[in-house]
Amino acid sequence: MDILLSLPVVSYFFSTSLTSWSTSLNLLFFYMTWSTLVLTHSPLHIEILGITALRIVLWLFPSLIFLAFDALVPSLAQSIKYNGASALPPRDAKSLAKLTGLALFNLALETALEAGISLGLAALLKTPVFRTSTTLPLPWQMMKHIALLLTGREILTYYTHRYLLHGHPAPAITLTKSHKPKLSRTTKPAPPARSLTALHTRHAHARAAPPFALALKTDHPLPYLLHRFLPLYLPALALRSHLHLLTFLLFAALATLEETVTLSGYTAVPGILLGGMARRAAVHYRGAGRGGRGGGGGGGGKVGNFGGWGVLDWVHGTSLGGDVMADLRDEADKHRVQERGARKVGEVGDAVRDGVEGWRKGNGKRKGKKGE
Ligand SMILES: [Zn+2]
Repeated sequence: MDILLSLPVVSYFFSTSLTSWSTSLNLLFFYMTWSTLVLTHSPLHIEILGITALRIVLWLFPSLIFLAFDALVPSLAQSIKYNGASALPPRDAKSLAKLTGLALFNLALETALEAGISLGLAALLKTPVFRTSTTLPLPWQMMKHIALLLTGREILTYYTHRYLLHGHPAPAITLTKSHKPKLSRTTKPAPPARSLTALHTRHAHARAAPPFALALKTDHPLPYLLHRFLPLYLPALALRSHLHLLTFLLFAALATLEETVTLSGYTAVPGILLGGMARRAAVHYRGAGRGGRGGGGGGGGKVGNFGGWGVLDWVHGTSLGGDVMADLRDEADKHRVQERGARKVGEVGDAVRDGVEGWRKGNGKRKGKKGE
């Protein structure tokens, strides 16, 4: 437990002070904790306990708080949820216990799988999977690696989610009057009961409603690992020893936080871009549910928004409910309005200052004349 509490990444995320001297102190404290951790624990130990601590702090705790908020004040919660009351989590204890159990099982499973792969690779390569040294990674290198990891994750998430978890079934063969087999591209039979699409639909899309944060991990374990775990871990494995363990943990923290916020189902998610991601996730879960227009995930109606950021959905034309480019335009407009507003405030400020200066000068002259 001491390692969880002394983990520098956790202290890093809770160090909110941004003044220069306290930032330097925080960095020094951060460096000292990290060095102690590297010198006293094995790289695998730090990787697994670090990522578990991040998931508990950035996903499990907020999800349980959101769940409690939705359950205790549903009238207030539904006013800030996509699709209002239909987006509220189930309220019976049995369903909630089942969902929480599945989510915790998936958390344990992905942790065990990561530990197994990292342990196996480290034994095979005779070196830790990720670079683990007391030296901190350079900021520009960290940013470059995180950009690469986020891009890799988005590509894997989109194609896995679209083709494996909402796979378009092969054209169905129907019999015509002449009993000759005829290919029909319009008929979309339900996917086989044990296919990945069926498993994803039965669990992640069990209800045709926007998600709630706990729902991030309430998919069947197999689709869950393909959709959420491998896109996070495989790009990191591709960079392997070039990647500092600290960079990997920061990337995992950003990805976890993004998933928790965008799958919360709340309309009050701050920022146009993050808000857009939450809106598209809500549309995906609402439309592809078993009882929704999707009618089976891969069948029937329109299903889209397979990626997290929405860029690949925009490229492939699978965006539903407003694409990422519209969000970018809104964001740019907002900044233009803010700039105009700031200029206006500046002009008013200048006019007031000129007025005050003029009044002071006039007053000074009058006093001078009186003195003569
Ligand atoms: Zn889906």
